[in-house]
Amino acid sequence: MASKKLGLTGQILTGMFLGAIVGFILNKVGVQDTLIQSVFVDGVFRLMGDVFIASLMMLVVPLVFFSLVVGTSSLSDPAMLGRLGGKSIVLYLVTTAVAISIALFVAVLIGPGEGVNLEKPAATAFTAAEAPPFIEVLLNMVPRNPIAAMSEGNMLQIIVFALLFGVAIALSGKPGERLKVVFEDINEVIMKLVVMLMYVAPYGVFALMARVFADLGLDMVQSLGWYFGTVFFILLFQGFVVYPVLLAAFTRLNPMLFLRKMMNVQVFAFSISSSNATIPVNLKNAEQRLGADNSVASFTIPLGATINMDGTAIMQGVATVFISQIYGIDLTMTQYLMVIGTATLASIGTAGVPGVGLIMLAMVLQQVGLPVEGIALIIGVDRLLDMTRTAVNVTGDSMVTTIIAKSEGKLDKDVYNNPNA
Ligand code: ASP
Repeated sequence: MASKKLGLTGQILTGMFLGAIVGFILNKVGVQDTLIQSVFVDGVFRLMGDVFIASLMMLVVPLVFFSLVVGTSSLSDPAMLGRLGGKSIVLYLVTTAVAISIALFVAVLIGPGEGVNLEKPAATAFTAAEAPPFIEVLLNMVPRNPIAAMSEGNMLQIIVFALLFGVAIALSGKPGERLKVVFEDINEVIMKLVVMLMYVAPYGVFALMARVFADLGLDMVQSLGWYFGTVFFILLFQGFVVYPVLLAAFTRLNPMLFLRKMMNVQVFAFSISSSNATIPVNLKNAEQRLGADNSVASFTIPLGATINMDGTAIMQGVATVFISQIYGIDLTMTQYLMVIGTATLASIGTAGVPGVGLIMLAMVLQQVGLPVEGIALIIGVDRLLDMTRTAVNVTGDSMVTTIIAKSEGKLDKDVYNNPNA
């Protein structure tokens, strides 16, 4: 697997496929409750996979903090910070709104829940988590205690603190300059840690995939085939059609190169199911392979991992239509617009961690008066969809990063156009 000729992307892809095949075989031969299950699936694979995820998570907070401080303190034009913030929030929200609109449109067209006879879960089967009011999200962005924000991994708070710290460094004259050199060095060292981790990535990805597929209840996929297929199809459409088209339209860059360079990151996101844990890999890729300057990418990538969830919005759009059809409730145009608005706003302040999309879905359903317990119907197939939508989420983050970097003159075209970068 770790052949030199294959290249890192090839090795990671091989790890993914081999893992999926091994897991699938184990699932088919029915290893549940056997020695193989306890030694391999819950033993070796779990250990390898969980250690791999933990090592990635370990880098997220330090990397975001140091990289963003370096990025902000290097901004030559202070007005750029405001522009960066404005552009990225608008682009992230607009792409999410577009994604969910496409999802609603296609889902209504296909009708994944029509003619499906599923036993409706009891009202107690699923309780919705309370959504924090929007004003709370804004209030919570400023950390009262930055160390607590870091220990909790509260991304928005870390971003706010790092931005202010970076600006202060830029304004502090000599002490600022000295500190900046130290931060740059630490940032380099953390990036090296990411590179080191990439060498074991093929094995980590292999173990994660083997475990997921060994545990996957594929029977559920069959009974929810239309729902699963619709979400899956729109996710692919978003990733392989919408993003490249948007990228080419805004930047005139070759979108094929973008897709090719995103493959690595997508495999990571897919096997880990977490945009947050993918930040180190996505950031490194955006800077070193897509050519986005650190001053842009160190801000837009962590922000995107937190507030931009196009893939999640797609699942929510289709799930809303599916659940409304199962329960025989017709949605009005106003309700569809409410779904778009709620899902788009709900994605702000919700961390990119596995399965969070379903919690947000509860909010969306509640908003339009659909039974929240309908979520129990789709939970069984959510794991695989979570993996796929996370890959879409992180692709959206990189796409927006590339567009913004290009528009600010902060994209190194030579790096972008070099297929081997
Ligand atoms: N797992 C997704 C992410 O981290 C969020 C979700 O849809 O559950 O981006």
